[in-house]
Amino acid sequence: MLVDSHCHLDFPDFAEERDEIINRARQVGVELMVTISTRVRRFDAVRAIAERYDQVYCSVGTHPHNAGEELDVSAQQLTELSKHPKVVAIGEAGLDYFYDKAPRDAQAAGFRTHIEAARRTGLPLIIHSRDADEDMAAILEEESGKGAFPFILHCFSSGAALAETGVRLGGYVSFSGILTFKNSEELREIARDLPRDRLLVETDAPYLAPVPKRGKRNEPAFVAHTAKLLGETIGVGEDEIARITSDNFFRLFTKVPRPDGRSV
Ligand SMILES: [Zn+2]
Ligand SMILES: [Zn+2]
Repeated sequence: MLVDSHCHLDFPDFAEERDEIINRARQVGVELMVTISTRVRRFDAVRAIAERYDQVYCSVGTHPHNAGEELDVSAQQLTELSKHPKVVAIGEAGLDYFYDKAPRDAQAAGFRTHIEAARRTGLPLIIHSRDADEDMAAILEEESGKGAFPFILHCFSSGAALAETGVRLGGYVSFSGILTFKNSEELREIARDLPRDRLLVETDAPYLAPVPKRGKRNEPAFVAHTAKLLGETIGVGEDEIARITSDNFFRLFTKVPRPDGRSV
């Protein structure tokens, strides 16, 4: 089985055919997916999708793009919302200096609120980091010093130093379709050097479809292409990379029961 650890099933791209998308995922062995919150104000729609499908779990949080509009969201509020049985992670939150859609101090403040919620709940924090390696590493170091919290560097596209910092602090690294792109050799080198027990895969659908679907709308079924390429990159077959990434997922996402009943 495979798990898509990060997708956005609430986006309008999927509105007309969610049932089909989840069926197509199952047909290729993608048995679970986590649909990720980008605005606490719209969290109800995300949670409704997780409630509707057995295979779908969700997170709660504010994307850095929206950080300026949700500065009032508190760690307490995130903690309360995360008590729902289908809410299994906090985020996505972090720093995006590529788009800079929200002021950087608002992004950082929102990010620290989410870290506090992850620390309180023990749920993994989904971290979005783009073109912000140094500030991200500094915040992770400082906040981990105050008390550990579980986290994922999602859709990893940063440099080796941030991957190393993340792993040293106990974090996981999740690869999206970017790993399969022709010009991503540097990213594949980073993947090769990471400990195998920290690797995850995701689609970030509807964005970033992996080769050979590049340029199309992405969907959870396509995580199989990214997993296969990650396996080739680290020198293991398709069954083994599915086992590695699923074991890692269940070790980190402690609220999600294993559908196959195996212990991690
Ligand atoms: Zn993201
Ligand atoms: Zn995302």
